[in-house]
Amino acid sequence: MKDVSTRSRIILLVILAALPTLALIIYSTWDERVRAEAHAREDLTRVTRQAAQQLAQIIEGTRQTLVTISLLPSAMHNNQERCNEYLGQLLGKSSGLFHSMGLYNADSLLICNAVPWQGKIHSPDRLYLRLALTTGKFAVGEYQIGRVTKQQGINFGFPVTDAAGKVSGVAFLAMDLSSFKKIVSAVPLPRQGILTVTDRSGIILARYPDQAETIGQKLRAPRVLEMLLSGKQGVFEGKGSDGTERLFAYESVIENPDGSIPLRVMISLPQSVVFADANATLIRNLVCIILATILLIVAAWYGAEIFMLRSIRTLLAVAKHVESGSLDARTGLLPGKDELAQLGRAFDNMAQALQSRDVNLKRVLQDLEKQAITDPLTELYNRRFLYDVLPRELARARRRTTPVAVLMIDIDHFKRVNDSYGHETGDLVIKEVARVIKTIVRGSDYTCRYGGEEIVVVLPDAPADGAQLRAESIRSGVEALETMCVSGKQVKVTISIGIAIYPTHGADTNALLRSADEALYEAKGAGRNRVVVHAAGDTATPA
Ligand code: GH3
Ligand code: MG
Ligand code: MG
Repeated sequence: MKDVSTRSRIILLVILAALPTLALIIYSTWDERVRAEAHAREDLTRVTRQAAQQLAQIIEGTRQTLVTISLLPSAMHNNQERCNEYLGQLLGKSSGLFHSMGLYNADSLLICNAVPWQGKIHSPDRLYLRLALTTGKFAVGEYQIGRVTKQQGINFGFPVTDAAGKVSGVAFLAMDLSSFKKIVSAVPLPRQGILTVTDRSGIILARYPDQAETIGQKLRAPRVLEMLLSGKQGVFEGKGSDGTERLFAYESVIENPDGSIPLRVMISLPQSVVFADANATLIRNLVCIILATILLIVAAWYGAEIFMLRSIRTLLAVAKHVESGSLDARTGLLPGKDELAQLGRAFDNMAQALQSRDVNLKRVLQDLEKQAITDPLTELYNRRFLYDVLPRELARARRRTTPVAVLMIDIDHFKRVNDSYGHETGDLVIKEVARVIKTIVRGSDYTCRYGGEEIVVVLPDAPADGAQLRAESIRSGVEALETMCVSGKQVKVTISIGIAIYPTHGADTNALLRSADEALYEAKGAGRNRVVVHAAGDTATPA
């Protein structure tokens, strides 16, 4: 998270905020799917049951017809020709639902039939026949091709009993599968639903809507076949013979006397139909949330830029300016109550405070620097400054081969001033002498208080004669000075000045000051109140 930009964090927040909604949508859609499936299972079961009941009614009609045939008088049984004729008429009136009907005796030999036959027809292998004979009850067969008619069908058998009540034969009806399909087509089916009627082993007797080729074939999907044969009714999911995932519901139409299920009806629906609404809702909701999130991200992207990032970048830039020393830099953020505006103002105030502190500090430093080189009594430069500036001036003069004059000034008989008028007057006199000197020297000269009442003036570029003239003006200026002492009396002093010239009288600071001092000593010795240039070459060191 350290290196992630503010904008990316905001975008991440937006996405995080969208996640619960996304989860909610997925949950509710899943919930809707579950309910849709339960609903579809119920509906399918209901429709399948209705279809089974419809088929059961038809089979009941079949049974009624069989009861009628089974009650034919035994005389009829023995008169095959009459019997055949009678059944032929009956078949003609059966509206094409059956392709044959007849009678078998107790040995499974065909003794009477609506359709004429040749030879001996012996059918002990037919399930319905065996069941009706052994149980004496109505029985349903399985998919078969008629031995006489060669048509696809399913047979129904009903026992014929003799006067003693013993089963003496079986009356049968062969239902035609093409007309069976017509009946099945009348069942109302849900959208994209497929109805299948199978016999006991899963052989397709009717399918709607579907191709006729499947009739007489076993169900192709093994799992569907297995599930279908596993019970009397049920609902399950599986892959249909067309490979699509489907929801299946099946129901037994009737039960044989041995407990087996000879007819089942099954209706299936594609899962895509079952979940069509739920899927549409999911897609619609997902598209909505994704669009909303994209809109939010775009809004956050520009919102962050407009409301935050610009201000943050301004703050950052100004902070860098301040860091680099530009204390006058200000954010100038718009006034407002939000945190960023407050931060901007706080930052500007901080920069303002820093700036004024910096100004004060500079002033204090300047004062300190000035104090460090200023003599407090006379406000001339002090001795330390002399030792700073003189070597510098000498170095410059050396580079330019120009002269530098040094004037060493000492007040004559100053002890007496102190002694006669007091120390305070002495100070006053020193100050006055300093003031006079300042009025005479140039701005480029340096006047320094060297000791108690000793003042050194450095005159850059001044040759001996020029220095001597300036020294003379100073001397006469002081001589003309009348200082009012503390007690109100006039105090008059004179000064002696010793002059040394670089490079003639000294090549460095100490040598030059020493020479000036020597010249001063000479002036004192010569009677004071005078200017003496150091005797040329006396102490000079070649430059
Ligand atoms: P000379 O003509 O030979 O220079 O005689 P002088 O009396 O002036 O002798 P010197 O220069 O040796 O004496 C300087 C005296 O100045 C010594 C001291 O009492 C006095 N003095 C030094 N500094 C100060 C100061 O700051 N204020 C006052 N009032 N007197 C000072
Ligand atoms: Mg002195
Ligand atoms: Mg003196």
